[in-house]
Amino acid sequence: MAKVYNWQLGREMSYPLEGAYPDRQWAFVFNINRCIACQTCTYACKSTWTFSKGQEYMWWNNVETKPYGGYPRYWDVKALALLDEAHQKANMRSGWTAGARDVQQPYGLYDGMTLFEGAEKEDPQQEVILGYEPTDDEWATPNWYEDTASAPPSKPGDMTLDAASLPEHGAWFFYLQRVCNHCTYPACVAACPRQAIYKRPEDGIVLIDQARCRGYRKCVMACPYKKTMYRPTTRTSEKCVACYPRIEGNDPMAPGQPLETRCMAACPGKIRIQGLVKMGPDGSWAEDRYNPVYYLVKVAEVALPLYPQFGLQPNGYYIPPRWAPRPYLRQMFGPGVDRAIEKYSAPDRELLAVMQLFRATQEIIFRYEIIEGPKVFEATINGRQWEMYNDTVVGFGQDDQEVCRVKVEEPQYIRPDKHYNSI
Ligand code: SF4
Ligand code: SF4
Ligand code: SF4
Repeated sequence: MAKVYNWQLGREMSYPLEGAYPDRQWAFVFNINRCIACQTCTYACKSTWTFSKGQEYMWWNNVETKPYGGYPRYWDVKALALLDEAHQKANMRSGWTAGARDVQQPYGLYDGMTLFEGAEKEDPQQEVILGYEPTDDEWATPNWYEDTASAPPSKPGDMTLDAASLPEHGAWFFYLQRVCNHCTYPACVAACPRQAIYKRPEDGIVLIDQARCRGYRKCVMACPYKKTMYRPTTRTSEKCVACYPRIEGNDPMAPGQPLETRCMAACPGKIRIQGLVKMGPDGSWAEDRYNPVYYLVKVAEVALPLYPQFGLQPNGYYIPPRWAPRPYLRQMFGPGVDRAIEKYSAPDRELLAVMQLFRATQEIIFRYEIIEGPKVFEATINGRQWEMYNDTVVGFGQDDQEVCRVKVEEPQYIRPDKHYNSI
């Protein structure tokens, strides 16, 4: 295997292919705290890309309820079990050590094995990554355990709210929104014996060439996030295409301008923002301080990768839910969880302004600027004084043209009383 640098792990790691990096990488941030599980994103994708015969069980975007839900069922439990088994066999510990934290090593050092390294240790001649193929049964129920909490809130007749108090709820669930991560080190690309899967040099989008695919399902087995899916009617695998015509600026809505994808643009909860981040020569992100996705991940550090220990350097980032148990969140998003929740719970002036950019426009924002406004509110949060300012944040598109302008305080519109039901 080749050696590549994985900044999410803070170290070099083994990967079956030589590192090859796009100029800009498609990446997104999902704010779990705001998701209402309406599944509008799921249907925006389905009605655009997967409405045909043979795609009945194919959900490129899905929203599942954690801790029990998953599509396919148990996908993460099974991947974690494979990793754990590999560590036990090798008599190794898996974990993180706090290192010198900097922009290249923001979460410290992961000193366990990745799924690639686990496979290398077991038998380098066999599979390129530890994986498995889900059963038909596991693919059959995309919203299994919807809205099911980890425990009953209290005993019958008990009206206490203890189970639902911060910092951690006693009974909890949260929604996990999932699309393909268009990973920097994609397992699907590495595993395909036909070289049918490729990562585009211009934006890092990972696509399956339908003409080359022979439906061996090695990608389905390899992707730990289970985001490649087999279509029996064509006998090929398919996956999220990152709505590439929109990224290329071919949507008639804004000709020539890169637009956010269908699942991002449709989200009524305003939990999603997407961008194109600049890549460095070793797969790290090049500094782009005022790109909102760069800012949220690298500067504010409120958005974290999903299961970074798998080793794929996924390009999807999540603002973790404030109320879920920290150990559960740490195994899912790594050691940055506590810092991210603390920052999100009492956002500073810049973070609060940038958070307003979520769903402010369908055009991809490449840069933002903040115009300072007056102080409008103050409070004590977690024992500390907190102030809110009605700043204005301006987003700029690819050609540095203004694409949105929003204030921290939401404007109120009062309907004239000539309308029925006017208040
Ligand atoms: S559309 Fe947005 S709010 Fe609704 S389920 Fe999807 S991510 Fe959540
Ligand atoms: S999430 Fe899975 S399907 Fe998507 S790029 Fe990564 S390995 Fe491939
Ligand atoms: S990015 Fe496009 S193709 Fe991918 S899940 Fe979202 S809507 Fe579907």
